[in-house]
Amino acid sequence: MANPLYDTLFARHAGRTDPLIRRPDGTALSYDAFLRLAAQIAHVLTAAGLAPGDRVAVQVEKSPEALAIYAACAQAGLIFLPLNTAYTADEMTYFVENSGAGLLICDPGAADTLSPVAARCGAKVETLASDGTGSLADKAAAAPDSFETAQRGETDLAAFLYTSGTTGRSKGAMLTQRNLLSNAAALAEAWHFSEADVLLHALPIFHTHGLFVACNVTLTAGGSMIFLPKFDLDAVLAALPDATTMMGVPTFYTRLLSDDRFDRDLAGHMRLFVSGSAPLLAETHRQFEARTGHRILERYGMTETNMNTSNPYDGERRAGTVGLPLPGVEAKVCDPATGETLPDGEIGVLEVRGPNVFEGYWGMPEKTAEELREDGFLITGDLAQRSGDGYVTIVGRNKDLVISGGYNVYPKEIEDVLDALPGIVESAVIGVPHPDFGETPVAVLVPEPGTAPDLEAIRAAVADKLARYKHPSSYEVVDALPRNTMGKVQKAELRRRFG
Ligand code: ATP
Ligand code: MG
Repeated sequence: MANPLYDTLFARHAGRTDPLIRRPDGTALSYDAFLRLAAQIAHVLTAAGLAPGDRVAVQVEKSPEALAIYAACAQAGLIFLPLNTAYTADEMTYFVENSGAGLLICDPGAADTLSPVAARCGAKVETLASDGTGSLADKAAAAPDSFETAQRGETDLAAFLYTSGTTGRSKGAMLTQRNLLSNAAALAEAWHFSEADVLLHALPIFHTHGLFVACNVTLTAGGSMIFLPKFDLDAVLAALPDATTMMGVPTFYTRLLSDDRFDRDLAGHMRLFVSGSAPLLAETHRQFEARTGHRILERYGMTETNMNTSNPYDGERRAGTVGLPLPGVEAKVCDPATGETLPDGEIGVLEVRGPNVFEGYWGMPEKTAEELREDGFLITGDLAQRSGDGYVTIVGRNKDLVISGGYNVYPKEIEDVLDALPGIVESAVIGVPHPDFGETPVAVLVPEPGTAPDLEAIRAAVADKLARYKHPSSYEVVDALPRNTMGKVQKAELRRRFG
């Protein structure tokens, strides 16, 4: 094929007049209209002087047009580099500089702030939305609606995706066409996606979950998506009757459960609910099944690999686990000190290998060498456990492990005990420095709104269930845990606050 990514995800659907993107107002953008728009954008990108292999940084609100930039980059052989719309000008300076992007596409409202950033980094700027003053949309509207697809191969880079920055500075993961295509094909098959599927899409499209899982799976199968700009409870409830599947982060599901309108009548017709990006609480799993009759399918992935494991569609969806490695993906649990594979049931660092594993971090050869072994295994940085029948449980991040008096204390084990207590909505356990033990666990609790936790009862329950060295040395109470856009608990912030 001349350009496997473009041909497989996009060109194959040329001429289709049925919807690719359904808007909440009932209007839709057909596959054909989407491909024509992408071709027009590809003309604008190449007219700006970009050539295959160049990077296009994109910081725009979610829209069909924003997704069309991804297709345009694929068609023109450019490297698509989507960025979180929450990033400030300072943060953007790092991303544009680090990536060496030749062009930065932003929303009109951000142009004044971002133009100096781009100028400092030697990049051009385009604004996406049509404003009648020669924006990218205006130029695209005047461009031809077909474009000669650039020749690219499976090993060529297709995207740079910056990691969420949960454990440190965000890193630019270099992803090839093969990385994206192998994962999309495996997922579409594993989750039985078809042309008949309508995905309720409320995730951002600057992150691996909303872009490379949700969109690529839909495009591989030829289905359609209801594009909501963000997770808005009313909008999601209104869109559910028209959808067949939904992908979300755990907070989507807790928010749905917080509303009585969400019930079996509204959710019963759905084919599949998927959760990922952060751990799904056992309680959410249980409540969701009781309320709707559906078992949420939990899966696990990361920017560097798209997806690694998934609970089965047909087989047992085991709560608390992230399921089995995807076809073609190998996963092993290793001793962090020696790299030796550990026996089933033991906790160690998860390593994965497969066609989904990225090429490395752009401009960070040392970081790449630290995490990507020569034999192709990626050290994920996640602590995990494997059951005898291959199910993987994520126990937490290696960086969040608390080593107290020489003992390994796994925050999740304590969090599971705390979360199950009456009156506790959720918890996070962090390690803070301790003069004798090196570190000690501290528990941060979110009680039911308007209540104060009974700390004595909590200490007693913990003492009953966990060995002494795992007992939190103190308890902090907060209204809510700090989370980023993807619903990930920001433990670094908790350590700053309570450490
Ligand atoms: P950074 O690498 O910059 O610190 P990050 O790891 O949060 O940020 P992402 O690539 O967005 O950036 O997230 C991947 C991580 O999210 C995984 O390594 C894992 O820790 C977590 N994760 C994803 N899915 C799940 C899941 N189902 N259960 C538990 N953790 C998950
Ligand atoms: Mg990471």
